[in-house]
This record gives sequence, C-alpha cells and structure tokens, in this order.
Amino acid sequence: MTLPTPAPLLTLRNVSVAYPDGHQALHNASMQVKQGEFLVLLGASGAGKSTLLRSINGLVRPTGGEVLASDLPAAALSGRNLREHRRRCGMVFQQHHLIGRLSVLANVLIGRVASRSLLGSLLPWRREDKLAALAVIERVGLLDKALARADTLSGGQQQRVGIARALVQRPRLLLADEPVASLDPATADTVLALLHEICKNDGLTAIVSLHQVALARRYADRIIGLRQGRIVFDGEPVAFNAPAEAQLYAPPSTSSEPIAVDSVRSTPSLTTQPKELQPC
Ligand code: ADP
Repeated sequence: MTLPTPAPLLTLRNVSVAYPDGHQALHNASMQVKQGEFLVLLGASGAGKSTLLRSINGLVRPTGGEVLASDLPAAALSGRNLREHRRRCGMVFQQHHLIGRLSVLANVLIGRVASRSLLGSLLPWRREDKLAALAVIERVGLLDKALARADTLSGGQQQRVGIARALVQRPRLLLADEPVASLDPATADTVLALLHEICKNDGLTAIVSLHQVALARRYADRIIGLRQGRIVFDGEPVAFNAPAEAQLYAPPSTSSEPIAVDSVRSTPSLTTQPKELQPC
C-alpha cells in the first residue's frame, strides 16, 4: 500500500507581480514547496528572486495568481490569514537589518515582537522570551557576544544574528534573500552551512536566494531558476549542469519580445533532461 503524499507546505499558482510602475517582475510562477525542503532560487540580478520571496510572505501582493499555505484554513492569504502567515515566515535579509546600537540579544528579541499582544509589547521582555533568544543565539555560536552591540560584530557574525532573529519567531518557513551576498566566500560558506544545518536539524523548510551557484549546488535539495520573471528551471542540483547554468545567466535578448525565457525552455540540452525543465 502506498502512503498518500503529504500536502505541500506552500503552493504558488500562476503568481504574477506587476509593480505600480507597470514593470512585470513575475510571470505566472507556479511551484510547490515540500515540508523540510531546502530550496535555492537562482537567477541573474533582476530576475525576480526577491519579488518571488516577497510575494510568498505577503510583503508584495501578487497582481495575479495565488499563494496557498497548507496550514491556514482559507485559501487566499489575506487579512488575518496573511498576518498569521507572515508570523510563520521568518525572513533573513542580505543587509541583516540589525539595529547597530542595540545588543545582539535586543536585536534577536525583535523577532519575538510579532508573537506578543499589543499590550504585551509595552511591557518588558518576559523571561521566556529572553531564554528563547539566548537559546538561538547559542545555536548560531554567538552566546559570548549576546550583550555586545550589533555594530561591533563582523559581517558574518551580524548575519548569524539575522538568522537567530528569524529563528526566535519559530517560523514554519524560512525565507532568506541573498543572505550571504555581502560576505567573503569562506564566511559565506560557513554561514550558509550553519543555516542549512539548523534547517535540516529542525525539519524547517527554507527558500533561499543566492547568487553563488557553487553554494546552491552544495546545499540545495532543489534549485528553482528564474529568468526575466519566469521559472525556467525546477530540479535537483545534479540536473543543474553547465549548459543549464549558462542558459540561466545568458544576457537577456535584445528583442522587446519576452522570447529569451522560451528559448531557454526549448533548448535541446535542457529539454532532453527528464523532469527538470518541465513547464513550471
Ligand atoms: P532579483 O531579486 O532577482 O534581483 P527583483 O525581484 O529584486 O530581482 O526585481 C525584479 C525586477 O523588478 C527588476 O527589474 C527590478 O528592477 C524590478 N523591481 C523590483 N522592485 C520594484 C519596485 N518596487 N518597483 C518597480 N520595479 C521593481
């Protein structure tokens, strides 16, 4: 007897985003994310990676299609559902977004704000909040820096704080937007390895955008390739071979037609691979 496949944690169905200036940043993006997956978004600058991440956590409202979270009752993410969905999405940013003059502990506690009531947020932090913050600070290896000002830390340490701040909100889904882009290669690898290890230990689902293809191949369970706002690759790292990489990062067509994406899809070297370049 075969067990039923568990419902995906997250489903994007034909999600499109047109910004108010008319720029179409995402075109009919569809994908499913399984519980516990470590998914990496790749694509040239401007391909739509941030827009995709932001439409997942509701910072950007899709102008078409829908984002469905398996554990929220109503289908569309709006109103109260959207607030609850955001609380469950931990976000790690490229520039850390720390408050430099505050301690590491105070920065991490900011991640608990969303789980407090309005009245509670006016009161001093509860002991349980501080203990939870210290526990995640220890997990990212910075317990001895808990009371140091954030702006005295190195870039890699600051990003560890950013990760701790996202973890302390006990997310169901971790979204990271180029979390290691501003770090030197060795530190980038160490920080991403830490993030990966924590997600795997906790069974935490992660969607991480990267510009380092080597790191994507090393850590991703699955790679999603975006080009000019379209998902053009969805497969395991082993299928993301040199031709696929070259196609993903090839300069955009000079034509005004959005044909570059279609040409990626129809390139024999890519379409001959079994599943990875199915229309997404
Ligand atoms: P990436 O993360 O892959 O670099 P983005 O999602 O940031 O790509 O951007 C995708 C496209 O949307 C780019 O052309 C970018 O200039 C444009 N864009 C991003 N944010 C806005 C915005 N707020 N208003 C208009 N255009 C935007």
